Amino acid sequence: MGKRFPLVQRTAMAAAAALALPLFVSGSASADANFPSPGGNTNTASILTYEDTIKELTKLEQNSKNAVDVFTLEEAGTQVNKSEQGRDLYVATVGDGPEDVWVQGRIHGNEPYGAESILSLLKDLGTNGSAEYQEIRDAFTIHFIPMYNPDGSELNIRQTVLWDDATDQPLLDASGREQRIDLNRDWVADKFQARESLAFYEYWTMVDPAYGIDIHHQGLKQEFGTGDDVTLSLGISLAPGGPTLPTLAGGAYDVLTRQMHGYVFQELSGYGFINMDRYQVGGDLEIDIKGGVVSAMMLGLNHQGLNPEGHSNPVVFFETSGNTSDGSLGQKARGKSIQQNILAMKTLLLGLANGEVQNVDPEVWEEIPHAPVSGYSTDYAGVIPVTP
Ligand SMILES: [Zn+2]
Repeated sequence: MGKRFPLVQRTAMAAAAALALPLFVSGSASADANFPSPGGNTNTASILTYEDTIKELTKLEQNSKNAVDVFTLEEAGTQVNKSEQGRDLYVATVGDGPEDVWVQGRIHGNEPYGAESILSLLKDLGTNGSAEYQEIRDAFTIHFIPMYNPDGSELNIRQTVLWDDATDQPLLDASGREQRIDLNRDWVADKFQARESLAFYEYWTMVDPAYGIDIHHQGLKQEFGTGDDVTLSLGISLAPGGPTLPTLAGGAYDVLTRQMHGYVFQELSGYGFINMDRYQVGGDLEIDIKGGVVSAMMLGLNHQGLNPEGHSNPVVFFETSGNTSDGSLGQKARGKSIQQNILAMKTLLLGLANGEVQNVDPEVWEEIPHAPVSGYSTDYAGVIPVTP
């Protein structure tokens, strides 16, 4: 068995259960010039709220014959267990396999489809009796975090806002501005700053997953060389072949992350509405970011003595085109954006369960379209150029 945590206080959630929410627009696998939608207007009114997420989780827990468990980090027993503004942090588990998998969405509050695609996949895993879903449930206990950053989600901003409990107001810096923290970069002076990071980091030390998946959005992007619109970029927060990843786990994660994305690339290339490339910033840089819990997982960070055994695991991220804050999130793209994330997650989970991922030639990573890499954008040493 993977790690399942006993639930102690679910009555409040159960009360909100039966509300049916029209959360999902079904995607179809046909090519569509509107995906991604460069002229799209962002209608944030249609985007999942924190309350919607809780209601949907509660409904899934009640309706899933394959035992979806929904709980808060307070119920799981982490020491820090609320967001900066005091919201509960939710996890849903499904499956009863021996290995644990961590799947998180919406660490950036203005990137909504991580939450929606996770809820949809969670529904499938909870209710679908087909052999593929059964194989995933038998191999893994999956810990889904649909909304890692509820405060930022409610504000439709990337970050969380550091909060002063004494005044119940944002914590201000020396110039009187509220302090916002990018949870995926949260690492200053050898410590996490935001409560969300501390809470999910501690939960990670309780779970010790074997793999992680992280769902994001980026702005609109064109493929290097062809100029075709990219719908999905594949990335790792510590770049394969970069300054850090080859030194971890005896080089195992440098291979395994290439295989994970190589498998997704191979399996999803046949879908006409999905066009993939490698995630890059500034044109031709890959990222090598040590801050944030995702990189802490790969680094095997022992923060506050909570990971004395030095557990670590590889994590990959999916980066959908279209972001609410830059106005590029067209509603016509919505169903397909969600659908490609569901497909990518399901495909990767199934490939890890049946061993196909581990048999991928890691050199496939080089076949995924990308600009020739000139360097690594880091959060610890500026840009580190590629050394020939
Ligand atoms: Zn993001």
